Amino acid sequence: MDPPERKQYSQERPCITSSVLYIDSGNISHHNPGVKSRMGITSDTARKRIAYITIALVILSLAYLAGQGFRSRRQVAPPDLAGGLERDNRQLGEADLERLFPDIVLRAKKGDEKLIALTFDDGPDDVYTPAVLDVLQQKQVRATFFLIGNRVEKYPEVTRRIVEEGHLIGNHTYTHPNTGKPLGEQLRTELERTEAALAAFGVSPSYLFRPPYGALTAPAALEVANMGYRLALWSVDSLDWRGLTKEEVLNNVLPHIAPGRVILQHSAGGPGEDLSGSVLALPEIIDHLKQQGYTVVTMDEMFPASN
Ligand SMILES: [Zn+2]
Repeated sequence: MDPPERKQYSQERPCITSSVLYIDSGNISHHNPGVKSRMGITSDTARKRIAYITIALVILSLAYLAGQGFRSRRQVAPPDLAGGLERDNRQLGEADLERLFPDIVLRAKKGDEKLIALTFDDGPDDVYTPAVLDVLQQKQVRATFFLIGNRVEKYPEVTRRIVEEGHLIGNHTYTHPNTGKPLGEQLRTELERTEAALAAFGVSPSYLFRPPYGALTAPAALEVANMGYRLALWSVDSLDWRGLTKEEVLNNVLPHIAPGRVILQHSAGGPGEDLSGSVLALPEIIDHLKQQGYTVVTMDEMFPASN
């Protein structure tokens, strides 16, 4: 069974039903004894109308039968797709999500107010996150950290420091699963466990959820929207997770600075991932923003919950 095809068939049936109803009501009016005196004109009009209706009915019937035919024509099922079904494997990236779910996706604030949000994913850890915090403290700016729940539990001191230094914390799941694939109930559990881990530090649940890898299935996007989350994506990607040098990170960020943009960096990585170029680039990014007259804000300041 294939749900997208099934949906298509069920959409065609009502069309036919409604045209049948229309013909019936037309017939009733022509058999009305009150119009007998204008029989000549009426019968011409009636013939034309019947002709139009017949053509419409034939077209609709052919379309209906063609739709039915695709499935009944299948004698032998095609070999399975080795990588699984398209709908289970296609990842909706940040641009797709914005197009499909404009009401819940946050990527850039419209307008020309010179605001910029610095965001850091995948922390905390005890190497890069403290280094990022040092730079932010020295430059006196606040950022948004999308933290992973099990790392929050592993590095309580660093989590406490993020909270105490006034940064904003958003939800980045508990174990960082690939949210571009269907996770079923696991996604809700991931989000709730992270909220619970953060509650131990006095952090109330955030409406900002950043899906790992910036990917999410369409049903999952609807589910998290129903949970009250908005998708906190980005509009400038430093690509720092690739272990880039400071210069490479600066090249990925500075030319794309514009009012209302959200910059993505990481404050922790996977085993062996080197984020030192990203940390070294950060003071220069902040200096550049200040020189250009930007105000660095957190994502809730840029996208208030009530909007
Ligand atoms: Zn991540």
